[in-house]
Amino acid sequence: MAILDVLTFPDPRLRKKSKAIESVTNEVKKLANDMVETMYDFNGIGLAAPQVNSLLRLIALDTRPTKEGRYKNEDMTSLEQSIEQPLILINPEILEKTGETTYEEGCLSLPSYFESVKRFDWIKIEALNLKGEKFQLEVDGLLAICIQHEIDHLDGKLFIDRLSPIKANRIKSKIKKYGYPDREDETEEELSKEL
Ligand code: ZN
Repeated sequence: MAILDVLTFPDPRLRKKSKAIESVTNEVKKLANDMVETMYDFNGIGLAAPQVNSLLRLIALDTRPTKEGRYKNEDMTSLEQSIEQPLILINPEILEKTGETTYEEGCLSLPSYFESVKRFDWIKIEALNLKGEKFQLEVDGLLAICIQHEIDHLDGKLFIDRLSPIKANRIKSKIKKYGYPDREDETEEELSKEL
């Protein structure tokens, strides 16, 4: 296992569309394991392969409460609690979606910047697991938000693209002016929102 480098905005590689994975090779499995390890090392709750410079439709997620108490069990929906995590999704597709929810999102590729983003409240997805088996999953809560955020990454989209131009430009000019802080300077609460 290895900790991978995470690309940050405005790296143009984050804007490319990722390709479907045709077969779940040992290389894909290794990448998935490295992504989980990297996600935990960065204290993130989700990570998409293009963020670690692999243009493949692969995402890793874990929204469970941590020892540091970032989340409480009560904050998880029963659907979320019923899903085994860390969750790896290969070639994820949203089949059905309903409702609306907002969450103050952050991103490991734009560390320390946060803004409320509107997402679907409930989604039904189809994906492959690490055994190459197709499965469907219905999910809501933070995990559903996170999956939508990560699928956006696979299409070269970042959460700032879902903001009003005024809000997006405010974040972009702040990044231009101040850059990103050292990871050590970020608080637990901030890190817990980065996906
Ligand atoms: Zn992200």
